[in-house]
Amino acid sequence: MNVLLMGPPGAGKGTQADLIKDRYPIPHISTGDMFREAVSTGTELGKEAKKYMDSGKLVPDEVTIGIVQERLAQDDCKEGFLLDGFPRTVKQAEALDQVLAKLGKKVEAAINITVPEDILYERMSGRISCKDCKTVYHLKFNPPAKAGICDKCGGELIQRSDDQGDTVKRRLEVYAEQTNPLIEYYEKQGVLNDIDGNRDSQAVFADIVKVMESL
Ligand code: ADP
Ligand code: ADP
Ligand code: ZN
Repeated sequence: MNVLLMGPPGAGKGTQADLIKDRYPIPHISTGDMFREAVSTGTELGKEAKKYMDSGKLVPDEVTIGIVQERLAQDDCKEGFLLDGFPRTVKQAEALDQVLAKLGKKVEAAINITVPEDILYERMSGRISCKDCKTVYHLKFNPPAKAGICDKCGGELIQRSDDQGDTVKRRLEVYAEQTNPLIEYYEKQGVLNDIDGNRDSQAVFADIVKVMESL
């Protein structure tokens, strides 16, 4: 199963990826998580990525394509993968097709989670996540049992810096300009599956399972 999870920031990609990986034994590859990890460990990649992330812009294609290419070559991707937040530009999508072709693979499904913009703002402004295990919660829609503390590991819940202020708006603009064209790209390939993400996460997940089962 070679599957992409697409959708604007706050659409629920990470939330759905967690549900998918509990059911299907394929690695979840999130470029956003990879960059945040690099930022928190202070690597060169992290220092470079942080500049772009803090202003709501995309990390340059060369950098992003490089880390994904390396990741997809690892053994655990042999039986498939779930890419979350990559590709985000047509250039990344073309590079992905080339990398996969060399490995004798292709994208089998592009799952596009759609959510109205006003809801995206609400989702991002209330998003909190565990500092330690990275589990994502929402202050209103999916609160932890104890405020500020992760249900799973007891870690501290924090708000992402790019979920605050003007960066949220900038990210949505960047999505509209640079990522939205990918919908047509995958539609042309005949692998696009639009899913209404403005519902309870279990209802969204049920539709994603239908797509996964059809592969
Ligand atoms: P969200 O899930 O809210 O859309 P992500 O965690 O996927 O956010 O991404 C956070 C930030 O990391 C992006 O705003 C961008 O700066 C960077 N990033 C993540 N994936 C990519 C990508 N494929 N190309 C370029 N930048 C990326
Ligand atoms: P993305 O990875 O696409 O940026 P997330 O999965 O991190 O999105 O979800 C963004 C926020 O919205 C999180 O706080 C999450 O708990 C919440 N959320 C995700 N899916 C739903 C849903 N179906 N209904 C309500 N809130 C949701
Ligand atoms: Zn935790």
